[in-house]
Amino acid sequence: MGKMINVVQPSLGERELAAVREVFESNWVGRGPRTGEFEAAFARHLGVGREHVTSANSCSSATFVAMELLGLRPGDEVVLPTVSFVAAGNAIAARGARPVFCDVDEHTLNPSAADIEAALTERTRAVVILHYGGHPGAVAEIAQLCRDRGVHLIEDAALAIASTVDGRACGTFGDMGVWSFDHAKIVVTVDGGMLYVRDPELAARAPKVAYLGLEPRAAASASPASFHSGYDQALRSKTRWWDYDVVSFSGRSTTNDVLSAIGVVQLDRLGEFIARRREVAGAYDAGLAGLAGVRVPPPLPAGHTSSYFMYWLQFEDDIRDEIARDLFERGIYTTFRYPLMHQVKAYGSDAVLPRAEAAAARTLLLPIHQSLSDADVDRVVTEVRACVTARRRRTRAA
Ligand SMILES: *Cc1c(COP(=O)(O)O)cnc(C)c1O
Repeated sequence: MGKMINVVQPSLGERELAAVREVFESNWVGRGPRTGEFEAAFARHLGVGREHVTSANSCSSATFVAMELLGLRPGDEVVLPTVSFVAAGNAIAARGARPVFCDVDEHTLNPSAADIEAALTERTRAVVILHYGGHPGAVAEIAQLCRDRGVHLIEDAALAIASTVDGRACGTFGDMGVWSFDHAKIVVTVDGGMLYVRDPELAARAPKVAYLGLEPRAAASASPASFHSGYDQALRSKTRWWDYDVVSFSGRSTTNDVLSAIGVVQLDRLGEFIARRREVAGAYDAGLAGLAGVRVPPPLPAGHTSSYFMYWLQFEDDIRDEIARDLFERGIYTTFRYPLMHQVKAYGSDAVLPRAEAAAARTLLLPIHQSLSDADVDRVVTEVRACVTARRRRTRAA
């Protein structure tokens, strides 16, 4: 057996180290110029104004900030696909609101607009969707539905950093979007997140909510668009720049210049990461084509681009867990994301969501990251073909 092939893996190297060294040598490691630079670069990447973007120490905390900005209250409902990450469910439930889970397409694991619509009630305040595997899914249709019905749309774009529909970035179709830079994502700052807020007034509140609800007194009179420089402005006023007010009883979700410096470099490398991931996905498609009993991810609809965050196989026979074990024994990590939220007891859901349940039992994620060599990809293809053929023979003989 060769080396273990990781299911995900960051690409951090000399350029990131050099950027961190510079921050160390500047003697300012907290929130400062590098964080501002990262936010501005991310806004450019999304194609939105810089004042709409606020950094965070994780995508999860950015999601909590988003739910606080929405002003969710007990009695409110928020609809989300059962294939979602736990941060969204917790951020909703922590405000006393009720997560309402909907079904997903069996093949894409994304909800359709009809799946979302079926779960809307008079109490629905918002919808939270992700983009499974990096595929945009029906985000444009769901955004239209939400506008028509007067409910907010929040995109958990953690998997969709480079995903677009007709040139528009995923995460910017709704009212807010959140991204992750944790150890297992494509752009990695070790830990970190980003929040996009469309509404200018809410966007101006976001950095305050992300930092204990603090507002420097000298910046209180500043126009919303200039809040990011509020602390600088307080300094420049040269009078009691240390005074502040509290506009909300919020936690602290801010990041720092060490991690942001890594983010600036990683974002610059994103195009190169995505190009390699696309090649890997293409090689899997070609290598696994025609393998009996196995479905590869659906093709992208015209106008859609993917971040190729996941590559998922779906088995016709009930052999997913055995295949995962077989591959692990051959040095290939696989996994499944995300365990169905409506089956997590704490959320108290009694939903029955047959398509998601069927998909969750048969779906397996293969390794995909930009550091996979052609030999790694060949090895995965060969082992998957061998394992599936052997298991199917045994299942059918039994
Ligand atoms: C990783 C992930 C998150 C959480 O990101 P953190 O930065 O680790 O908090 C949220 N949503 C999805 C879909 C994720 O995969």
